[in-house]
Amino acid sequence: MIEIKNFIGGDWISAKDCETEPLVNPSTGEVIGTVPQSTPAISNQAVKAAADAYPSWRDTPLPKRMDYIFKIYNAMKENLEDLAQAIALDQAKHISEARGEVGRVIEIVQMACSIPALMQGETIQGIANNINGRVIKAPLGVFCGVAPFNFPALVFGWFIPVAIGTGNTFVYKPSTESPLFMQKMMQLLVDIGLPNGVVNIVHGDREVVEAWYNNEDVAGVCLVGSTPTAKSIAEGCGRHGKKAMLLGGAKNFLVAMEDAPMDLLIENIIMSGYGSAGQRCLAVSNIVVMPEIHDEFVERLLEASKDITLGDATNPDIFMGPVISLKAKERIHSYIDIGLKEGANLALDGRNPKLPKANQDGYFIGPTVFTGVTPCMRIAQEEIFGPVLSVLKAGCIDTALKMISDHGLGNGACIFTQNSYYTEKFINDADVGMIGVNVGICAPHPYLPFGGIKGSLVGNNKVQGKDAIDFFTQNKTATIRIVNPTSSDSTTVEVTDDSVRSCVAG
Ligand code: NAD
Repeated sequence: MIEIKNFIGGDWISAKDCETEPLVNPSTGEVIGTVPQSTPAISNQAVKAAADAYPSWRDTPLPKRMDYIFKIYNAMKENLEDLAQAIALDQAKHISEARGEVGRVIEIVQMACSIPALMQGETIQGIANNINGRVIKAPLGVFCGVAPFNFPALVFGWFIPVAIGTGNTFVYKPSTESPLFMQKMMQLLVDIGLPNGVVNIVHGDREVVEAWYNNEDVAGVCLVGSTPTAKSIAEGCGRHGKKAMLLGGAKNFLVAMEDAPMDLLIENIIMSGYGSAGQRCLAVSNIVVMPEIHDEFVERLLEASKDITLGDATNPDIFMGPVISLKAKERIHSYIDIGLKEGANLALDGRNPKLPKANQDGYFIGPTVFTGVTPCMRIAQEEIFGPVLSVLKAGCIDTALKMISDHGLGNGACIFTQNSYYTEKFINDADVGMIGVNVGICAPHPYLPFGGIKGSLVGNNKVQGKDAIDFFTQNKTATIRIVNPTSSDSTTVEVTDDSVRSCVAG
């Protein structure tokens, strides 16, 4: 049995002052461990540890802080397989995708290695006689982060390397459904010698997060999760004047134009719609198809979907693992019922899929395809977060774009076409934060911002790139009058003096 522990101020702490809940392997339904359900008091102890560590971490010279980030990069590369296996076990992400997730985080850590360049401020000389202006980017103190179940490594990567690289300390709450990656990752942070208190982990549910809102030591909270959770945290942070970076839910459209390259289209929909059993914020969900290719497309999609094999997520020979929990499976089944009641055509039913013997009690749903879906149906409007695809028809690109802009969420959208007019129009007009052209999962590279718009982003900042640096730092503007210590007239100072020059240069 795996004992998941909190990590506070440099110590692993068992759940002696709080309840635990079972940790389940979704591929088999077996209980494999326990996870603490920490109390608000435990959550605040972690904030205190981070606050105590902050002054000396902030004052650690930047190159020394970067040494730790480089060490994280190396440790993750050396332990990639072990970290990926952890994700394949408790989150039940297919092992190849789990390796891909850790690989992507390694690239994000690479981005964090360029913090010395990204965090540079600005200066303007001579804004008045002998007066210069300077903007510095400074850390704020303690940040807290909350992760969803579906990307345990990626969300660590989005938050922690940038937050601590810029000089803050951190308290992290993984999802209780997939805590194992962070337990292993934290041990690597200990092994590279990260000072105590710089990163702390508290497991539990919303009570852990709610304790942060009126804790004066907390500068800001970041979340990747569903939109209702993002809004709830925005309210708590807003009431207490904390910074908040909150990425919410998604309902992604893919538009297949009449000239879409069909093989590429089908291959990308299979990866995007069924990868991670459809539990990805950039998974395709609504497929809008032009009438000229609709029937051929549906036939090809059903043919490819039927070939998909299901089984244990740690088995590289199968294609798709389970969904995260029994509750998630039941929710997805209820959406299949809703689609049927709304009059959509269930062209492929993934309930009761064929499974290996060892996985009979796992939480599996096979590929599911609805055709004849219209934009106002609930299955086209609400986030299902499972391997369920809806096929809609549109007569032209304008109708497809209207369906996208009428939707309340705006995470990602893709177009498949060879026509540059359609391409440019889509990039310009699609009302979403991340756009793909002939790619099924339009995840931006770590040097560029990642995040949606509309209901998919609550607040302003996105993760990755300069957006993330801006979130984890605050701008301070200094106005500096140069005074020559050897002159009685401070307004006629000579800036050729060496000591004055070194003062201006910092
Ligand atoms: P969730 O919103 O249920 O939970 C996310 C985290 O918030 C968990 O750690 C949970 O314990 C905590 N939480 C739940 N309710 C809370 C509350 N009221 N106050 C404070 N904390 C609370 O999401 P989930 O089911 O774990 O993850 C799936 C969701 O995450 C989907 O909606 C998906 O689209 C979204 N997601 C978005 C992105 C993105 O980039 N936009 C990426 C991954 C996942």
